[in-house]
Amino acid sequence: MTASHVLSASTPAREPDSGGDTLAASAQHAGKIYGTGETAVTALDDVTLELPAGHFTAIMGPSGSGKSTLMHCLAGLDTLTTGKVLIGATDLATLSDRERTILRRDRLGFVFQSFNLLPMLTAEENITLPADLAGRTPDPGWLETVVAELNIGDRLRHRPSELSGGQQQRVAVGRALISKPEVVFADEPTGALDSKAGTELLQFLRSVVDDLGQTVVMVTHDPGAAAYADRVVFLADGAIVEELVGPTKEGVLEIMGRLGG
Ligand code: ADP
Ligand code: MG
Repeated sequence: MTASHVLSASTPAREPDSGGDTLAASAQHAGKIYGTGETAVTALDDVTLELPAGHFTAIMGPSGSGKSTLMHCLAGLDTLTTGKVLIGATDLATLSDRERTILRRDRLGFVFQSFNLLPMLTAEENITLPADLAGRTPDPGWLETVVAELNIGDRLRHRPSELSGGQQQRVAVGRALISKPEVVFADEPTGALDSKAGTELLQFLRSVVDDLGQTVVMVTHDPGAAAYADRVVFLADGAIVEELVGPTKEGVLEIMGRLGG
């Protein structure tokens, strides 16, 4: 555990940093309306959320509360109707589609429930794919560090079909980490794993935050998974309605019980 983690974990009433450079990403008065007129749906309603660098944030809430929409808008996969999203100091709305694509490739990492590995590539080739696509040689030292953290050193030459679900998801996390992204976005990363593999993946996400200073944002339905985060943000009807710093499974369950769904 790094000193900065100990510090942040022990100071829940964290003041915004006056240096201003410690936010990995933020949403400011974010609104998202799908459709128009009678069929319009407000998916996000004035959401303001700061994601401090080097923290693990979980997003929870009933089905339809806007979790995926918030994550997609934060990650530049969808655009807001009102308000703004910053990645570091970059306002996503100022970018062209192409610039946003490049920002996603170079500055963000993604982990999906369904792994999304390419079946014809080995584990190592899947991990280095984003760097290869960007025409860069992955930093060998960093690749070694990521592979060591992932504990998949003996699986690098295997194809996804030869790996367990848990190993495949660790490869997907390796792929997300290889470009040293400012934020890793994970949408239900343990949703397709058995509980042992899920626990290992969560311990791994925790360790990349603690040991590598990575910023992680995770959408999850699972109170046990959310308890690995530094903070849980609860959405209901497109708005942030609760926040829990230093969450426990019991604390998360109690709030979910109140929110319903
Ligand atoms: P969650 O991930 O919390 O289940 P979503 O962000 O997927 O919630 O959805 C929030 C709301 O926006 C829901 O009412 C959903 O039906 C609606 N919604 C999501 N995506 C679309 C879309 N592409 N078109 C229309 N409505 C959408
Ligand atoms: Mg969703």
